[in-house]
Amino acid sequence: MQIGIIGGGIIGLSTAYYLQQAGHQVTIIDQSDLKDGCSVGNAGMIVPSHIIPLAAPGMISKGLRWMFNSTSPFYVKPRLDVDLLKWGFQFYKHATAGHVKKSIPALKELSLYSKARYQQLAQELPFDFGYHERGLLMLYQTKEVEHEESETARIANDHGIQAHILSTEAVQHLEPEVKVNVRGGVYFPGDAHITPQALVTQLIQLLKDRGVQFLTHTLVKDFAIEKQEIKKVVTDKGEHPFDEVVLATGSWSGEVAARLKINLPMQAGKGYSFTIQNVEKNIRIPSIFLEARVAVTPMGTTLRFGGTMEITGVDHTISMNRVKGIVDSIPRYYPEMKVAMPKQTEVWYGLRPCSPDGLPYIGRSGKIKNLIFATGHAMMGLSLGPGTGKIVADLITGATPEVPLTAFVPERF
Ligand SMILES: Cc1cc2nc3c(=O)[nH]c(=O)nc-3n(C[C@H](O)[C@H](O)[C@H](O)COP(=O)(O)OP(=O)(O)OC[C@H]3O[C@@H](n4cnc5c(N)ncnc54)[C@H](O)[C@@H]3O)c2cc1C
Repeated sequence: MQIGIIGGGIIGLSTAYYLQQAGHQVTIIDQSDLKDGCSVGNAGMIVPSHIIPLAAPGMISKGLRWMFNSTSPFYVKPRLDVDLLKWGFQFYKHATAGHVKKSIPALKELSLYSKARYQQLAQELPFDFGYHERGLLMLYQTKEVEHEESETARIANDHGIQAHILSTEAVQHLEPEVKVNVRGGVYFPGDAHITPQALVTQLIQLLKDRGVQFLTHTLVKDFAIEKQEIKKVVTDKGEHPFDEVVLATGSWSGEVAARLKINLPMQAGKGYSFTIQNVEKNIRIPSIFLEARVAVTPMGTTLRFGGTMEITGVDHTISMNRVKGIVDSIPRYYPEMKVAMPKQTEVWYGLRPCSPDGLPYIGRSGKIKNLIFATGHAMMGLSLGPGTGKIVADLITGATPEVPLTAFVPERF
């Protein structure tokens, strides 16, 4: 079959990989050059530990507390936008214990399945993308956050995801090279990490070598639909007929779906990262500074810091104040590490595609026969990419996906 994938981030690329393997003719269409998007500069963490969706109790009050501080890790730009208001209302409705309880098994299965795909990719891909299974350290400095994270560890253990509560000394023991200033931490030994730009750039080349066609700098503007079927994808450079169309357009998915008259609530959650080079004394285990919401990942001799979640719409400005919030947090957790404020040109930003219930949209459309959604993975798109790609390939080839998709039904709002 001729398959058109709109969006060449980690979700689109993973889907292309499995579909090409299954013998289909695949075309990826992307408005960008694929060099700098959300799937490239992220923190690279593969996190089966993250089984609690973003829409969870406590998030609203925490968000409101952070909103009025320009260096805080979370911000919603107040604006009169109907889509944002509807999204906010759905988020509020889903930030409940009941929703969390229902979502955990679904997220866990998808996450473990995707990690298993990474293990397989690390074996079968003809290049190295820095895959390591060293776990994840969640670090805290306050009693309040210790309490919250211990509860998360309990929930994880109850669901079969190993989590160990560690003392200050036990954390330090895991990081022999870098002095760590914490009250304690939770260690998730089952997590992993990669170097995302190494995966994305080499995967694009491999797919090209295997005959996948890339139409970059090509914007999908519309669709020609007949009898509930997409006949052609209309771009600014021409029209393309496909048998099946996969929508993997990340933060832009709400707009693209609207052209198909489908309601797919989505907000972009902007985050920043910067990477320091030639780190002599590096951390071993990817870590999250919980109070500051900063993710830190060792990638070879480099060290990447990432953080913030700004719900500002598809917006390409960089708030150096929030980047300063990230930089300022570093000596609080690593007192001997000196990291200078990066120049604006050294700061990367990405737009996380956030659904209002914190769950991705994966599955066949109920309205358009040859359309499949694969988007809305928010803070976990890199983790869930290969799993999602394989599921979409299974849906297209007629195999039964190995993960239940009920929680991820695209047209659920
Ligand atoms: C600071 C930060 C740190 C993160 N850390 C992690 C992490 O450690 N682990 C993790 O799992 N996740 C992490 N994430 C989240 C992860 O990066 C995203 O979830 C993931 O990259 C989303 O992938 P995607 O393929 O859905 O979207 P994208 O990578 O955004 O790809 C979508 C593509 O669609 C294209 N597109 C959109 N509309 C159109 C159109 N109309 N026509 C043509 N093309 C179009 C876009 O150009 C884009 O290239 C992080 C994100 C940020 C910002």
